[in-house]
Amino acid sequence: MIKGIPVSPGIISGNCVVLKKEKIAINYKKISKCQVRDEINVFSYNKKKSVDQIKSIKNFLKKKKVDKEKIEIFEGHIMLIEDEEFERDVISCIQDEYYRSSTAVAKVIDRQISILRNVKDEYLKNRIIDFKDIRERIVKNIMKIPIIDLSTISKKIILIAEDLSPSDIVQSKTEKIIGLIMDKGNLNSHVSIIAKSLDIPTIVGTKHATKLIETNDHIILDSINNRIYRNPSQEKIEEVNKIKINHAIWKKELKKLKHFPAITLDNHKFSLQSNIRDNTEINLIEKSGSEGIGLYRTEFLFMNRSNPPTEEEQFQTYKEVAEIMNPRPVIIRTIDIGGDKFVPYINIPKEENPFLGLRAIRIIKNKEDIMLTQLRAILRATHFGNLKIMFPMVISLEEILHLKSQLSFIKNQLSRKNYIFREDIEIGIMIETPSAAIISRELAKEVDFFSIGTNDLTQYTLAVDRGNQSISYLYDPISPSVLRLIKKVIENAHQEGKEVSMCGELASDEFATIILVGMELDKFSMNSVSIPKIKKQIRRLRFQEAKEITEKILRLPSSKEIRNEIERFHKENDMHF
Ligand code: PEP
Ligand code: MG
Repeated sequence: MIKGIPVSPGIISGNCVVLKKEKIAINYKKISKCQVRDEINVFSYNKKKSVDQIKSIKNFLKKKKVDKEKIEIFEGHIMLIEDEEFERDVISCIQDEYYRSSTAVAKVIDRQISILRNVKDEYLKNRIIDFKDIRERIVKNIMKIPIIDLSTISKKIILIAEDLSPSDIVQSKTEKIIGLIMDKGNLNSHVSIIAKSLDIPTIVGTKHATKLIETNDHIILDSINNRIYRNPSQEKIEEVNKIKINHAIWKKELKKLKHFPAITLDNHKFSLQSNIRDNTEINLIEKSGSEGIGLYRTEFLFMNRSNPPTEEEQFQTYKEVAEIMNPRPVIIRTIDIGGDKFVPYINIPKEENPFLGLRAIRIIKNKEDIMLTQLRAILRATHFGNLKIMFPMVISLEEILHLKSQLSFIKNQLSRKNYIFREDIEIGIMIETPSAAIISRELAKEVDFFSIGTNDLTQYTLAVDRGNQSISYLYDPISPSVLRLIKKVIENAHQEGKEVSMCGELASDEFATIILVGMELDKFSMNSVSIPKIKKQIRRLRFQEAKEITEKILRLPSSKEIRNEIERFHKENDMHF
């Protein structure tokens, strides 16, 4: 039995696909003259095979009516492979330098990549990623290493991977992924957050699952009890089926809460809202009984493309969500790339500490146009609904003042061009760095609202990388330091008459609900799937009692004692999950 860190609860069984990041070992040993012809044939055969594979991905995407941009990426790959000069160079590398076909392909493309690294033109530089992709595809085909394209999976599978990036997961055919197991990752890494929002049973941090499990093995993934069974016995299947049925009943019960308010037994009301990544998630919001969008992670609109979305494209996206949700609020967070969210064309140089590097609003220094275009699109869309702007990763007052002045500049620009927009759009910031939390009283004077990002606040306060599975035991938002910071932020905002939401994962942790209620958090924003369970939890609490317990908890010196205290309360009050 394999275990890890359960992320998204559920039980699922089925066949699996194991996705390993194979290291491709290029063999530089020379061939003999008599092997030249064969190697040229191998190259030609696999060149065609690669083009055919890409064509079928392209056709599939076309049928799915995905973004033209995405299809263009694949068209570009075909052009690069079919380029006559590329073919000539590879053949000459085989017949003149006596390299085998795979080595010749790698060498020719690597030469091209090193030329591109030195060019100034950003567009050309961005082609490096395309060259890397075709290099991998042709070489793998020559070496007969299987290529799994997540965008064209045809059967329902449990996906087992060493590691996936947020962009891998959003471009995969997620409706075919019925379960996800990842050797790396942590509870609050972005892939885990996406899996939760898609309601895919998921366990991460399994360390060796990709080594212990083979593609096509039958798997039971039980992320309620943190268990993975490989080729289970009939007895095990029946045992797990019972848990599955109970889980389904529990979910059905929760659904009934959709039309009830998130109100405590002594009538204190909270607002529950949704975190989304793109407009396709709006339908989940409608099913959950959510009161608005507390966090729109717009960076996902910038992923898996070769250029940033234009002002017009973004405007249409924000307009659509504003109209559908109106009059409910929609908080649009400006692009938060960097860290583990990578957008190739933004060209963030390789960094030693990406989470402490060029991330989120910091790109305004060298990619000002991207931020300003986004702000323009958001402002224009304010005319169609209740949009608000939120800035991530703030650490200082100067940053807010600068962003506000940029916003005023854009407002003037739009007014001059006679656009209609909301002058008085509300501006908020995420409190997700200890620095922002510590100076939150001063920051609150400058903005309309706060949203606490506990995922980053925890990582930066405890100095524990949120995605690093080997130190995941240290990552605990329910620790005295993080909780005391949260309390301070809420108090400071309230003293300035401002509302505080929480959009980090702690908001969707029913174990923590009592403390958040007790700290008088105003709004909770989370993946829509979690809304009913948090509502249920709030409806079982008494506000006054939660405040008293929270006061006591905030004086406790360790996470262990805090957890014991919460557990004791839940037991005494019969609050099982
Ligand atoms: C957070 O840090 O808590 C947050 C909500 O932002 P993200 O997870 O996108 O970094
Ligand atoms: Mg964050």
